[in-house]
Amino acid sequence: LFFTLEGPDGSGKSTQIKRLAQRLEENGIRYRTTREPGGTKISDGIRALLLDPENGEMTAKTEALLYAASRAQHVAEVIRPALSEEIVVLCDRYIDASLAYQATGLGLSLDYVRELNERATEGLWPTRTYLIDVPAEVGIERVSKSRGTGLDRIEQRDLLYHGRVRDQFLQLAAVEPHRFCVLDGTRSVEEVTDLIWEDVRQFLHA
Ligand code: C5P
Repeated sequence: LFFTLEGPDGSGKSTQIKRLAQRLEENGIRYRTTREPGGTKISDGIRALLLDPENGEMTAKTEALLYAASRAQHVAEVIRPALSEEIVVLCDRYIDASLAYQATGLGLSLDYVRELNERATEGLWPTRTYLIDVPAEVGIERVSKSRGTGLDRIEQRDLLYHGRVRDQFLQLAAVEPHRFCVLDGTRSVEEVTDLIWEDVRQFLHA
């Protein structure tokens, strides 16, 4: 089982991943949590390139290719091996994030970014994707308040960019209602965890 969490910056994905991991632990289920960009030494190197504000702007294609490269390594080194051992994988962001941030956010075509990522991952899609939805301004406001270190290169982009990203996530969910489960990220942390967990459990017992 391969679960991904998606949502605008500040939607609370990382908090939810930790809480879900705890529930899997309590239930004695073998799992592994991971995140993108990152998850392996090489992918973490690419993450640093992508997120360092000092790097300034890069072309949209460079950005899309770097995310895809990081993902290719992550899938080969971490995700596929875990899945083949029947370990449940919980991943913070995946291909949908590239469709929202790099395609729609930066003006590349969805087909181009989808194709690139299909090749990078050899067609590995998640079993289920939890989209934690928050309005872009709410997310960015939360990130600005909670981060001591300042915003990363992508978070620093304007609200129009983040608004396009959010809208694209919602559209992806509308097109694939069987894979996506959309949660209202303005609800309490506890409520969001309970809703996701209720859904995850159905897969565990299937
Ligand atoms: O999810 P997390 O906050 O760790 O993501 C780190 C940064 O990478 C965020 O600023 C996020 O917007 C950005 N990102 C991106 N494109 C992706 C995945 C993440 O711009 N495909």
